[in-house]
Amino acid sequence: MDAELQDCRLCEWQCGVDRLAGEQGVCLLGEPQVALRTLHPAPPASYTVFMAGCNLRCLHCQNWDIAQWPEGRNRVDGHLAAGELAKEALKALASSLGRGIGADRIFFSGGEATCSLPFVEEVVWQARKLDPSVRINFDTNGFMTEESLRRVLSWTTSVTFDLRAVDDEVHRALTGAPAGPVLRNARMIAEQPEKLWEFRILVVPGVNDGQIEKLSWFIAGLGTELPVCFLAFRPNFVLEHHRGAPVSLMLKAVNTARDCGLRQVAWSGRTDLLGGPRELLQASLGPVSSLSDPGARLAAAYAMRAGCLRTVRDCGHCEARLKCGVKSYRPIRCT
Ligand code: SF4
Ligand code: SF4
Repeated sequence: MDAELQDCRLCEWQCGVDRLAGEQGVCLLGEPQVALRTLHPAPPASYTVFMAGCNLRCLHCQNWDIAQWPEGRNRVDGHLAAGELAKEALKALASSLGRGIGADRIFFSGGEATCSLPFVEEVVWQARKLDPSVRINFDTNGFMTEESLRRVLSWTTSVTFDLRAVDDEVHRALTGAPAGPVLRNARMIAEQPEKLWEFRILVVPGVNDGQIEKLSWFIAGLGTELPVCFLAFRPNFVLEHHRGAPVSLMLKAVNTARDCGLRQVAWSGRTDLLGGPRELLQASLGPVSSLSDPGARLAAAYAMRAGCLRTVRDCGHCEARLKCGVKSYRPIRCT
């Protein structure tokens, strides 16, 4: 594990920093740390391990206190031995509560578990030593290297994979990272469809709802049987004052995806949550008006209000990546 963290290229930013010597990449992580672990009923029901830290800075993050570590360290369990965590996970899956909710796998989430890949693999090896048939799910924002994804696909049972936008402008505005590597990795997963639990598409009204049809065509081009779940945006993190997704928009998303030929489409999440008092109703003018997509303009306006210094977000190559307003944003409202 150490060598990989001393020249970290686990995710697509490929920072090349020595995390064990205190150098920081975009995720700001040193050694992998577990933020939280618990039995979790959301499909696939599982023993979920939330790894601290993330390589993206998504404006909508609902786990910001886990993802935007270390500033959000109020939810960090700390350094656990991989073997102990493996034992604990298997015990929880076999417990009456675990069996009662139908939990059948260890689910790695975050944050982004790619930033902790060597530790995650060690937990998987240890768990499979004790129970070779134990199932694993890897939950990802998709912004990893091809090599990291190949590794994950070699041992995981299933993958839950987030897609936010086809258009780079919108993806960058919402997440701080380019869309290309995520789309490339989605294509790679589609070559092993038995490993895909589902593509998950968060729908943020006024920001990426213009991407629904493009994403649907993109996935349909990879395979019309690939499962897709649209997730309703809830006001959180930098978008704490933005309105939630209405049920009408979620139904429209499902119908659009079906019209594009996708056959396994669903949606989930709480809908129709009101925005807060500082909701931006339309893209603000000024520097972000140089962006062509209205959703990207709106997201960029939110980011800049939170302290982002760039019109076109590119966190991996930004001089402020170790300390910026988005990274240290503290919402007062969580839903
Ligand atoms: S952002 Fe990615 S490449 Fe950079 S240090 Fe973190 S995990 Fe490694
Ligand atoms: S200031 Fe830089 S690091 Fe921070 S969100 Fe904006 S582009 Fe990303």
